[in-house]
Amino acid sequence: MIEMSKGNIVLGAEPSGKLQAIEQVGEILVREGFIRPAYIDSMKRREEVANTFLGNGISIPHGLPENRDDILKTGVAVLQVPNGVTWNPGEIVHLVVGIAAKSDEHIEILTNLTHVLDDAETVENLTATNDPADIARALSGDAGAKSRPGPVLDVSGFDHSVDVPVINPHGLHARPATFFVDIAKQFESEIYVEYDGRSGNGKSLASLLKLGVSSGKTIRLHGKGADASQALAALKDAVDAGLGEKEEEKSVAQAAHGWVPSEVKRTVPGCTASPGLACGPIRQFTHRRIVVEAVAKDPEFEISELTHAIASAKSNLRLLYNEVRSRSGEPQAAIFRAHEAFLDDPELLAETRDRIKNGNSAGYAWRQAIEDRVRAMEQHDDEVLAARAMDLRDVGRRVLRHLAGVLQDEPFTTDKPVILAAEDLTPSDTALLDPARILGFCTASGGPTSHSAIIARSLGIPAIVAAGPAILRIEDGTMAILDGDSGNLYLEPSQADIAAAEETRQRIEEERNEEYRTRYEPALTLDGERVEVVANIGKANEAAKAVEGGGEGVGLLRTEFLFLDRETPPDEDEQYQSYKAMVEDLNGLPIIIRTLDIGGDKAVSYLDLPAEDNPFLGERGIRLCLNRPELFLVQLRAIYRASKHGPLRIMFPMIATLAELEAAKRLAEKARIEVGADPVPIGIMVEVPSAAVMAVEFAREVDFFSVGTNDLTQYVMAMDRVHPTLAMHADSLHPAVLRLIDQVVRAADGAGIWTGVCGGLAGEPLGAVILAGLGVKELSMVIPSIASVKAKLRSISMEQARELAQQALACSDNNQVRALKLP
Ligand code: PEP
Ligand code: MG
Repeated sequence: MIEMSKGNIVLGAEPSGKLQAIEQVGEILVREGFIRPAYIDSMKRREEVANTFLGNGISIPHGLPENRDDILKTGVAVLQVPNGVTWNPGEIVHLVVGIAAKSDEHIEILTNLTHVLDDAETVENLTATNDPADIARALSGDAGAKSRPGPVLDVSGFDHSVDVPVINPHGLHARPATFFVDIAKQFESEIYVEYDGRSGNGKSLASLLKLGVSSGKTIRLHGKGADASQALAALKDAVDAGLGEKEEEKSVAQAAHGWVPSEVKRTVPGCTASPGLACGPIRQFTHRRIVVEAVAKDPEFEISELTHAIASAKSNLRLLYNEVRSRSGEPQAAIFRAHEAFLDDPELLAETRDRIKNGNSAGYAWRQAIEDRVRAMEQHDDEVLAARAMDLRDVGRRVLRHLAGVLQDEPFTTDKPVILAAEDLTPSDTALLDPARILGFCTASGGPTSHSAIIARSLGIPAIVAAGPAILRIEDGTMAILDGDSGNLYLEPSQADIAAAEETRQRIEEERNEEYRTRYEPALTLDGERVEVVANIGKANEAAKAVEGGGEGVGLLRTEFLFLDRETPPDEDEQYQSYKAMVEDLNGLPIIIRTLDIGGDKAVSYLDLPAEDNPFLGERGIRLCLNRPELFLVQLRAIYRASKHGPLRIMFPMIATLAELEAAKRLAEKARIEVGADPVPIGIMVEVPSAAVMAVEFAREVDFFSVGTNDLTQYVMAMDRVHPTLAMHADSLHPAVLRLIDQVVRAADGAGIWTGVCGGLAGEPLGAVILAGLGVKELSMVIPSIASVKAKLRSISMEQARELAQQALACSDNNQVRALKLP
């Protein structure tokens, strides 16, 4: 039993903010011999990944599990803050209960706290008291769980029940209990949790915490209602999976450079897309003006379009809500519920329909109806209403995007360096940007393999993606630190944080400079094996930059750049001139030209591609080229003409069947003969699972393989690479992807051909080493990664890489692979 003594309690504290409050309560724990000072930092870091606000003016800061060695003995300290300290926007704390728990003895204190939590009057008294003994009494001794049992549940009306052990190392403490409650609340049925002869309402955090469930103990879930069996199944799965605690460990493990913020106003978690730190003001990138026709002939059709657009917007919002809630908690996610409610407003819908019946298009009618309301709200001198206007505009745009016929570019200009916040960035958006002025990107949607992430890496600037639409509401000029390693955007950081982040950024830059200095040295491992390190490029002038960046050639030329942002396709001569210039810029180094990979998330207006329900599973890449041989042959002829000027290889994207490969090779041969060129090596992207599985057969037909891990991952995991919430889980280091690559390499070796990798995984240091260890001979990546990957490969032996690769293959998920230590 933990006894609270007066020494553990400090009254009348006035911390300037949450982090200072944590420091002060941490200092009590240090002073009383419970923790080493280093644990205070760990307590601060936990706030980055979890909300320790318990409710009713109480918070329970504690450190991360991996720093438990800094706990000397289990103990609890209390900081009384009579004037309150803001924990999160709208959440004020008066009692900061710092916890140092070596195992789970503190659960008892938590249980006692939840009795207090129920009782606003006691919290008020404890906030005002001048006697620390009042606080000590409330939290220890006979206030224990056993002395105040929860009600015993009468289970007679409950027709469903299931037993499940709680695996969380610290039992059902605040965070997993919150996770549980969030799930329970999604169901209509009544949910009760029975433990040790007592019961608690599964939809009430306080009630669950009161049970004081410790690790390894079994709880019984009871359900009553129409969806009780689904509710219990979902809850059992969630409890079995650790109630969200694994995710926390993962996000902590990602901060590679060691910098952590100490005092920031707000943290927006996202998904890491390009490493590094950036400090500077935010600038919103409103990249597209949504253009809609004013009039439309067929009101019925327009109304059905409107219905579809609203349904799609709602489904986006639901996904966002779930994702943000599991990542950041209910308060942060609630806004998306509110947005969804806007879409059910009967007046708004009736007015839009009336406008449509009067001859307007759905998009125009919707925009007008929204704009009228936004203007009316903005006219009020009331901050809350003004914020609602912003929300309405946001949700209005969300629907409009689904209705939009045309998106029109607006030029983006900035005279000082900024961190860009955008919904997403398409390849053509970047054409409008000046990379020299962009310190970092942060996008609301997208994923680590979306093109916006690839763009960020290719520009060599830190970026995070999938940060949610909250970033679109950050005001221009707000100071921020973007951490591309941990995937967090920190808003309004303290001067000390800016200085520390800047120092870290400079250190990283110095390390990069050193790698850059040695970029022309080959990637020769310590035991003398060579891996070719080449570049992915997608612009005319990048071939020269690839060489300049240390590339030993080009492993992937994405030829789409020639086809985007224009009214007609480039003719043979234009393409030839372009490819020839690149071949010449490479000055004898090889280039792999990938034939057109349009479709999916890369659209081209003049090709009149039909709208696809599932663009990534539709007419894309080689499928499109085979269906339009005239387009394909022009490109193939241009490539073969360029092959006369230097070493060039041809690669087909999205090959799924042997028949496609055969048809593509036949057209290539026709083009070759037409222009009188010599044969060149022909390879395929292995990015569709069928090609990986049939690698033995494909290996007989081609000269090389290049694995496209971006697409291979999305297809293997069935997770859209640009999906706003799934994309971040589509990790190419998942063993499912690695085992397929292993299979591909072995098939290639068996046939005497080589395997390269040109997806994003090749440019990650850990990915590069694992791939080399699997036997991949050529790694193709964005130019800024070349120098560091080469340096990494030079620092290890191939033997070590093979060992690491075998360990990775044996892992059961991507987090385990990411936790492997690079030699
Ligand atoms: C891939 O899919 O891994 C790849 C390199 O191609 P892209 O990203 O252009 O689809
Ligand atoms: Mg691809």
